[in-house]
Amino acid sequence: MSIAGNLNAIRATLPFHVKLVCVSKFHPNDSILEAYAAGEKVFGESKVQEVCQKYDTLPKDIVWHFIGHLQTNKVKFLVPFVALIHGVDTLRLLEEINKQAAKAGRTVDCLLQVHIAREETKFGFSPEEVNDALNSGIFDTLNSVRIRGLMGMATFTDNEAQVRAEFRSLKTLFDQLKTSYFSDKPWFDTLSMGMSDDYRIAIEEGSTMVRVGSSIFGARQY
Ligand SMILES: *Cc1c(COP(=O)(O)O)cnc(C)c1O
Repeated sequence: MSIAGNLNAIRATLPFHVKLVCVSKFHPNDSILEAYAAGEKVFGESKVQEVCQKYDTLPKDIVWHFIGHLQTNKVKFLVPFVALIHGVDTLRLLEEINKQAAKAGRTVDCLLQVHIAREETKFGFSPEEVNDALNSGIFDTLNSVRIRGLMGMATFTDNEAQVRAEFRSLKTLFDQLKTSYFSDKPWFDTLSMGMSDDYRIAIEEGSTMVRVGSSIFGARQY
């Protein structure tokens, strides 16, 4: 099927409250423009250099999300235009985003990445680390970042019960934070979980934002 056809097929399966991030990493501008022509404005990228090039050359009303692992020394390149950083996995990174955002005179929306998978290689805070960081009071001093919610990735496995349990644990943490630390912060409203292979499960478990790439654009050429 065409990119527009794939996109519309996915859209048809999304409940009203679930937002789609169209993951365009490793796909050329032409593919992005095809999705754009089908009405898509929100794209997700995972490499700083790639998203900066795409930002420079594609329509300026595209909303860019950064979904990859972000190194602190590259934050300054993203901050002028990025709409949402999904993978904030250390306090040091959050502090750097805050510093660069203040310099650029903007507030940058971020999601805290939480490690929910059994796999060891995935980045992210543990649920305990998130709680500790919030309770430390450090967040209250970072006025140029806004924590919009949490992001997580399930284990890459066919075991649906495991994937479901991992998503459920993230939703539980999200709800707990929403009624405690973030109870007076209405902008804490985003739970980013679910990719091509598991977004349906993620939605059933409470996702509000799915990041879908290959089901729209086909396989990536690395
Ligand atoms: C690449 C990527 C996706 C999209 O994965 P697909 O399986 O192609 O849908 C989603 N989230 C993150 C963090 C990614 O790196």
